[in-house]
Amino acid sequence: MTISHWIGGRRTAGSPIATSDVFNPATGAVTGQVPLASVDDVNAAVAAAREAFPAWREASLSQRAGVMFKLRELIDANRAELARTISAEHGKVFADALGEVQRGLEVVEFACGIPTLLKGEMTPDVSSAVDAFSVRQPLGVVAGITPFNFPVMVPMWMFPMALACGNTFVLKPSERDPSASLFLAELVQQAGVPDGVFNVVQGDATAVNALLDHPDVAAVSFVGSTPIARAIHQRASAAGKRVQALGGAKNHMVVLPDADIGQAADAAVSAGYGSAGERCMAISVVVAVGDVADRLIPAVVERIGELKIGPGLSDDPVDMGALVTATHRDRVRSYVDLGLSEGAELVVDGRDLKVDGNPDGFWLGPCLFDRVTPAMKIYADEIFGPVLAVIRADTFDDALALVNANPYGNGAAIFTNDGGAARVFQREVTAGMVGINVPIPVPMAYHSFGGWKDSLFGDTHVYGPEGVKFYTSYKAVTVRWPDPHERGVDLGFPQAR
Ligand code: NAD
Repeated sequence: MTISHWIGGRRTAGSPIATSDVFNPATGAVTGQVPLASVDDVNAAVAAAREAFPAWREASLSQRAGVMFKLRELIDANRAELARTISAEHGKVFADALGEVQRGLEVVEFACGIPTLLKGEMTPDVSSAVDAFSVRQPLGVVAGITPFNFPVMVPMWMFPMALACGNTFVLKPSERDPSASLFLAELVQQAGVPDGVFNVVQGDATAVNALLDHPDVAAVSFVGSTPIARAIHQRASAAGKRVQALGGAKNHMVVLPDADIGQAADAAVSAGYGSAGERCMAISVVVAVGDVADRLIPAVVERIGELKIGPGLSDDPVDMGALVTATHRDRVRSYVDLGLSEGAELVVDGRDLKVDGNPDGFWLGPCLFDRVTPAMKIYADEIFGPVLAVIRADTFDDALALVNANPYGNGAAIFTNDGGAARVFQREVTAGMVGINVPIPVPMAYHSFGGWKDSLFGDTHVYGPEGVKFYTSYKAVTVRWPDPHERGVDLGFPQAR
């Protein structure tokens, strides 16, 4: 199957610089070829978006909200097909892919409220015969560059908000699982969005750089790994664009001695191995305080033993699927080898996992390390696979200091029944999203998502109120309608009278 771009409301092959294989991770088979856009292809997409902008910006708020309501219905009706498309190229299990669709859909639902969200503020009588009000206006053409791990949800963190605010959009999805972006483009068109308002260019760094350098792109939303996020932020900022660049993560789950160990073990396994650890909010480090490790690790091992691993779309549902590509699987596996050579204790070894009937899938079973130390590379690096590390800490203060010394700051969780400790943790921890007895605290669509430190470059989080702020420019207007009888020149600085 050849996968295409979506420019000006239709599929197009463009003039790619190369093509890249797309795989079914469960079988290892090549299932498609994705074109990697040339600079000309990117220029065509930006030109289509630029041409569509004036009319879309003029569309009334009820028209834009109406389109979002229709999109909500279409996505709802196509949940299962979208989830199958995700699973076929990403490898995650069907139920998890359905969850991804749901979390993206919630942003569309939030965007349905755009008339209220764009309400400005008005102050009458700031001076005699003078009123003041504020408005938020769309930016123009905005770009979204997204990672492989949520091919539906992460684009939907961005484009529903951008479109509802009156912008036009160019999406550059991950080249590893590109098909879902075209499915979304068709639904956006069916919802009544005019051609050119939403475009997709498939591609790699060439396409990304063309978007970052393009003078007609006003703002860039990026989600991906930290080194790329940092580079994107620098390059797009240097080109004068507004940028939000969300990066990688190393999310800690602190477990205090008073926690319910069974619940903590459930959470660690769910958040550590769900989607094979390929989530930016996955728990990758458990910080076991005091005597917790000796009680928690057997409970985690028991739960790992019960996990079913296999094709994400199998009739008999499984808990964990394959990793996205063989290259990524091999990289993750190499970290397991490294952890052993660094002296960590490998309590569960998933390296030899075989899945019946699918010998060539990109498999790696759950791996669990105990006695990891902050000096080890398996702690320092984001591994992005089913590898969970346990670090032992003597006290709560030591645990908090460890979390805060980590350069990443996406999510952080604490498991405890001590409200005082939880309160100190949520106040002091240097992470953008905090969970108290919640391992994956992804905010609902009416809050905003984003990390701190090396997990986000830029100062605006995505979707929710921050999304409205990111995709609009603030304007303050002062209006005088003077009494027709008032006359006279005044050279003084304007001030309230
Ligand atoms: P990635 O950084 O490799 O790729 C992300 C996007 O950048 C893709 O569209 C890719 O084509 C493009 N890209 C890759 N190399 C580039 C380069 N040299 N120049 C310009 N563009 C380039 O990330 P990935 O492997 O697709 O996704 C996994 C990463 O994303 C993990 O680090 C994960 O933590 C992170 N992530 C973060 C969040 C968050 O909200 N903070 C959410 C999801 C994923």
